[in-house]
Amino acid sequence: MSRMRIQDIEIRDADIFEILLDNFPDMIHSIDQEGNIVYTNRTASILLGYSGEELLQMNVREIYADEVLKALEEGFSDLKEKGDKRVESLLKAKDGTEIPVEIRSFSIYDDEGNFLRTFSILRDIREVKELQNSLVHAGRLAAIGELSSGVAHDINNPLTVILLSNEMMLKELERDHSDPISMIEKVTGHATDIQRASKSIQKLADHLRTFSRGMAEKYENLDLFDVLADALFITSNKINRSGITFDNSLKKGDLIVNGMSNQLEQVFINMIGNACDAMTDSEKRNLSIKASSTEWDNVPCWRIEFSDTGKGIPEDLHEDVFHSFFTTKEKGKGTGLGLSISRGIIRDHKGEIYLESKEGKGSSFFILLPKVES
Ligand code: ADP
Repeated sequence: MSRMRIQDIEIRDADIFEILLDNFPDMIHSIDQEGNIVYTNRTASILLGYSGEELLQMNVREIYADEVLKALEEGFSDLKEKGDKRVESLLKAKDGTEIPVEIRSFSIYDDEGNFLRTFSILRDIREVKELQNSLVHAGRLAAIGELSSGVAHDINNPLTVILLSNEMMLKELERDHSDPISMIEKVTGHATDIQRASKSIQKLADHLRTFSRGMAEKYENLDLFDVLADALFITSNKINRSGITFDNSLKKGDLIVNGMSNQLEQVFINMIGNACDAMTDSEKRNLSIKASSTEWDNVPCWRIEFSDTGKGIPEDLHEDVFHSFFTTKEKGKGTGLGLSISRGIIRDHKGEIYLESKEGKGSSFFILLPKVES
């Protein structure tokens, strides 16, 4: 073993590596063919709360969160074959805390090409995730802000019904009651109108409250038909006001994906809002929403398409529109966050979003999301 002197201390190469690896800011682990941990650095102990000795007695499956174990198995076999891999995953510390990490792994083989071990570098991305969540939440509030005049209108209509019905009900009660049966019928009719109008305001308020909540949601199996119905409910005023016809060929019951409904709804609201804005000067104003089955990266996916007859997007801007703060809308109308946040959300769902468009010829945005067999 060669030796070198650092500040008058004699250190072997192996010691230098150990010092470097132990002080490396990211966690490092190496695992054998069975998934047993055969090396970890000090950062791993700090992050996970286990001592180095404890970790060396453990299997890698014990330090990952339950919900990622299936992906871990698939990733492990993929890594053995391909040699390197980069993924996001979730660790589980000794006290149960879940830690999101970005992992870069590579495999080591013997001279005959047999798999020996993997080495992985795991970066704690809790702060990045928190920032992403705040950005998604900010985008959600911006979406509500943009829709607010429509929402005010949606509240105003039933409110007018409530006030008028109430006034008529009071008048009815003030009249002389020679025909009590007819009076009861009329009052009941007004009371029913008031109840129906109040319920529609309640539905809107409930929906806005759930949608604007910044709480971390859980992934669950959901029907994209329902997500779209909610997005259309909140944007219906904008669609009607813009004089847009729309056709929606999504069917209930088929389009099952694993996702966070609020976030996917945010993406759909953004697609619909952008399409409406792009069609303000168009003669023909039509938004068409379709679903089809496809494969992407060998994964069966649902493809949701939003096609408009708006002004289109020049080809040299097809990538730019997905960048944060890129907007062609006037001040106060656009934040330039919608598409970049939408892309982040869809990629978090292991999907993809892309567009096809020509200037003056309308735009189609396509969203791919992995299928869950219903
Ligand atoms: P914002 O809507 O706040 O501008 P987005 O990120 O949602 O932010 O969109 C960025 C830009 O992409 C828009 O300003 C617009 O120029 C363009 N864009 C998005 N959707 C469409 C569309 N359907 N048709 C034409 N242009 C679009």
